[in-house]
Amino acid sequence: MLVVMQSHAADSEIARVVEVIKGQGLSPHVMPGATRTAIGITGNTGAVDKSLFEVLPGVDEAIRVTKPYKLASREMHHDDTSIPFTQGTIGPKTFTVVAGPCSVENESMVLKTAEFLVSVGVKFLRAGAFKPRTSPYAFQGMGLEGLKILAKARERTGIAIVTELMDTEHASAVEEASDIIQIGTRNMQNFSLLKRVGKCRKPVLLKRGMSATLEDWLMAAEYVMAGGNYQVILCERGVRTFSDHSRNTLDLGVIPPAKSLSHLPIFVDPSHGTGKRSYVPAMSLASLAAGADGILIEAHPDPDKAMSDGAQSLDFPGVEKLLGRLKELAPAFGRTLS
Ligand code: PEP
Ligand code: MN
Repeated sequence: MLVVMQSHAADSEIARVVEVIKGQGLSPHVMPGATRTAIGITGNTGAVDKSLFEVLPGVDEAIRVTKPYKLASREMHHDDTSIPFTQGTIGPKTFTVVAGPCSVENESMVLKTAEFLVSVGVKFLRAGAFKPRTSPYAFQGMGLEGLKILAKARERTGIAIVTELMDTEHASAVEEASDIIQIGTRNMQNFSLLKRVGKCRKPVLLKRGMSATLEDWLMAAEYVMAGGNYQVILCERGVRTFSDHSRNTLDLGVIPPAKSLSHLPIFVDPSHGTGKRSYVPAMSLASLAAGADGILIEAHPDPDKAMSDGAQSLDFPGVEKLLGRLKELAPAFGRTLS
């Protein structure tokens, strides 16, 4: 249920609604809006009695939310969510490029990448210190050492850090080292991990599970939000289908329905979505046209020598060329390149 306050409702009236919700053993989620505050209610297993709230002073109306995901739904939060960073805002007016190597391989390549990205105006570096690999014999990432390298890149260049959290054990360390915590496709339904990042105070980039429906994905976002972390960015990275011409099938068709059902920002990862660097520029431009709020692309100083995912990583000139095209086209879609 959503309790919509009157536009002139006093703080004490909002506090009273919160108390009544808690008194019912339910969880209140206060969402200040441009003109009025709304308070989402979660935690109920059956229907909640609307009249309990409608009689309270300052309340305009109580609305039932019909979707199984509540906080992630547009019924609960009409306007698109924006997420502010010191480096820029992720949201409906910008198109944000997040780039970097699949893995943190060593300090010099991370610093080199961070410096290059900053020089071309990219403000978010993505690199994995903990890597979920299909084979246990493949490079598993540098772990905590890798996080230290990322922290150094942030300190030196001011770039924001996006990095993956694979298990609850490392949640505090990853939260500390990152500006956005990535949850990978294989963990989209790791519910204990989702609950843990619900307690983190950093935004979460939630990749779509490789065979997750849109509803599964929004329910996963709901797990994070139900814990009190409302800053979730969805990220489409391709799903498994019968097609074998690309690593995954990039489902750009999910963007309009995701935008219609949810207020959360949505990114696209055309690197994992295609598996081949020559396909990445076209799918990046298509992501912009389809309504995505940003892209996450793999970029490496020397892709042919990358320790993971080199085939789908752009080199630096490739990144620059793509940025030029995005910069040209973004205004046509009402966005500025960020
Ligand atoms: C990655 O971002 O490098 C990664 C492992 O992605 P995904 O979880 O989408 O496979
Ligand atoms: Mn990768």
